[in-house]
Amino acid sequence: MDFIILETFDNYIDAHLMMGRLEEAGIKCWLKDEDTITLAPMLGNALGGIKLMINKNDIDDANKILNELKEIKRKSFACPYCSSHNIEYITSSRKTGNIISSILTWLMGSYAIGIKQTWRCFNCNKEFDEPVELNKEDLNMSE
Ligand SMILES: [Zn+2]
Repeated sequence: MDFIILETFDNYIDAHLMMGRLEEAGIKCWLKDEDTITLAPMLGNALGGIKLMINKNDIDDANKILNELKEIKRKSFACPYCSSHNIEYITSSRKTGNIISSILTWLMGSYAIGIKQTWRCFNCNKEFDEPVELNKEDLNMSE
């Protein structure tokens, strides 16, 4: 069987969420580099993130589910500054200089300072800790 990368994730929570949805739909999948990145998150960028691997034959179905999930996620949260849905949960690692300093920082037990998970709005370019969560009832999922 040929396995290909469906999507890469910078944290295992999103990766597992997506994997669960695919398995529910009967699509076989597995995560590559998960252990490494969970243990050493700052290596995520170097390794290219946690890779969600699927069978090549399932790519169409898997992409459909992936896009649906992304759409729901996008519609569920909004920027607290401008109410845009064009936001994403990102790993802000601008303060970590390079991989060596990342490892050193991690070994010294303060890696949380260098790696920061945050939300970013691509509309107004602001970063924030928590987006505004909309009520599910307000969303028109059928569109
Ligand atoms: Zn905004």
